[in-house]
Amino acid sequence: MPDYTTTVGNVEIVALSDGRIRFAPSDFFPTIAEEAWTPYRDDLTPEGDMIMNLGCFLLRSEGKTLLIDTGLGIDTGHLEAPVSGALLDDMRAKGIKRDEVDIVAITHLHIDHVGWNFLYDGEDEGAQQGKTAPTGSEVVPNGEAHPTFANARYWVNNADWRVFTRGALRKRAYMGAQVLPLQEQGILELFEGERALTGEVTTLPTPGHTPGHTSFLIASQGERAVITGDAIHARAQAQETHWSPRADSKPDVSAETRRNLLERIERDNAMLVSGHFPSPGFGRLARLEDRRYWQAL
Ligand SMILES: [Zn+2]
Repeated sequence: MPDYTTTVGNVEIVALSDGRIRFAPSDFFPTIAEEAWTPYRDDLTPEGDMIMNLGCFLLRSEGKTLLIDTGLGIDTGHLEAPVSGALLDDMRAKGIKRDEVDIVAITHLHIDHVGWNFLYDGEDEGAQQGKTAPTGSEVVPNGEAHPTFANARYWVNNADWRVFTRGALRKRAYMGAQVLPLQEQGILELFEGERALTGEVTTLPTPGHTPGHTSFLIASQGERAVITGDAIHARAQAQETHWSPRADSKPDVSAETRRNLLERIERDNAMLVSGHFPSPGFGRLARLEDRRYWQAL
């Protein structure tokens, strides 16, 4: 089994990546003092930056194929120094056909999780090479939106949908390009709370990063995994659960969610699967001298 694939009972998980993004820790966690990073210096680059994978996960469960998140897409300006746009190439390299995806499930409606929901006219082949004109946050693409996953229904939490489709957030170019057409084209499934996507995969509300932020619980044959989404971004947060990034809309709520979620994952000895941790993002929580950390599989 290649290292980008793992199993949880009868569920197969394939890790996919749309590239990476880089942040200064002081920018990403503005309330955290530089000294607090001392125990976690190995998690940073030699220059002291955080590198985040743009991970998405393909699940095979009970004959259905699910894709959790669709990456950043091709973005030129929104996030600092992005290296992205690789998802479709990565899928092809791993032998996954776009039209086999039955369900696209979105953890939340931030730009780096919805970027390949749609392709635009003339973009299809070129986009797979990562070479087309940008379709990210700053540029409105031309032509017609085609669902990248033509046979899929796209599942979005209702609380996120309500917040992101109003006011200034609605006007963001990536919303127009990658999110609003879901409703216009009738392929949107809004959900709330805990919903079974298959008998083995259930949505798990983990609010705070965004109001409707959702993790995914996989349970099969006595084994468990949680795809955490952005309930946690950095490995240091396995111990420092109170570290809430600037991007969390409600930092107090997200800190409580993170603490409870990690306690649950540790108690259940579940796999912790993270798209922003180093690829492929499969690991477990462990302890060393009372410090909890995430250990890659
Ligand atoms: Zn994210």
